[in-house]
Amino acid sequence: MRTPHLLLALLVVLGACGDDAAPSQPSARTLFGPTIRRVVLEVDYVRGAEPYTDMSAWELFTANANRLFQGAGKTFEVPTALGQMEAITEAGTEFTTAQLLAVADAHRQRRSAGDTATFYLVWLNGYYHDGTRRRTDVLGVSLGTTGIIAVFKPVVTATAQGSLPYVARFLEQSTIIHEFGHAVGLVNNGVPPASAHHDSAHGAHCTNEACVMNHSNEGAAAARMFALRYMSTRNPVLFDQACLDDAAAMVATARSAP
Ligand SMILES: [Zn+2]
Ligand SMILES: [Zn+2]
Repeated sequence: MRTPHLLLALLVVLGACGDDAAPSQPSARTLFGPTIRRVVLEVDYVRGAEPYTDMSAWELFTANANRLFQGAGKTFEVPTALGQMEAITEAGTEFTTAQLLAVADAHRQRRSAGDTATFYLVWLNGYYHDGTRRRTDVLGVSLGTTGIIAVFKPVVTATAQGSLPYVARFLEQSTIIHEFGHAVGLVNNGVPPASAHHDSAHGAHCTNEACVMNHSNEGAAAARMFALRYMSTRNPVLFDQACLDDAAAMVATARSAP
C-alpha cells in the first residue's frame, strides 16, 4: 500500500561531507556494538515543512532501521506523529553545511551518551546550498559523522508533484533511510564493506542499483526503476543484501571486540 508507482527520487550523495565528528556521537563500531542499547531519533521541523506522518509513513523508516540493525539488540525510539516532533523557527530559504550545523546547534536537545545514540533530523522550508549554488535537486543531506540529517521539503514536494499521495511519502522516507544509512556508516563511511559493493567513484554509495544506497537514485529514471522493483516485490526493506551484510558483519565484529 505504501509502495509507489513512481519514485522520482533525487537522493543525495553528501553522506561523506560535512564537519568532523561531534565528540559525543559514537563511532560506527560503537553504534553497532553492544554498548549502545537505544537509538533515538529527534525530529524537528519548520512549520509548513513538516514531515509526512499520515498513511503510516514512518513505518517504512522503522522497518528499515530495525532490519539494518537486526540481531544487534537495539531499541529504536522513532517519533511517528507530529506531536512527538518539535516545531522550530528557521526563516532561511537556503542552507550551507555550516548553517545546517548551526541549526542543529541551536535546536538539538538529545545528545548521544552512555547506552544511547541519537540522530537529529530537521525538516527545513528551503534548499541546500553547496557553497556554489542553491541545489533544487537535493532532497536531504547527512553531515559526516555528526548524526545530523536535513530534509529539504520544497524539493520533496516538487519532486512528488502530480503523483499519488503515497509517492511523496515513500520519497521522503526513502530519503531519510538513505541519509540514515550514511549517518550510521554505510557504505564504507565507518562500516567496512563485507563484499565488493562500495561505489567509491560516487562517494559512500552501493554499486547495486536496486539498493537505496545507490547513487543513481538521484536521477528520476533510475529512481523510477528502483520504485517499480519494490512495488513488484512488496519488500519494505530498501537496503540490498550487500548493505545488510555489512551491517551484520559490523554487529558481529563489534560484539567480539567492542
Ligand atoms: Zn548518498
Ligand atoms: Zn547496498
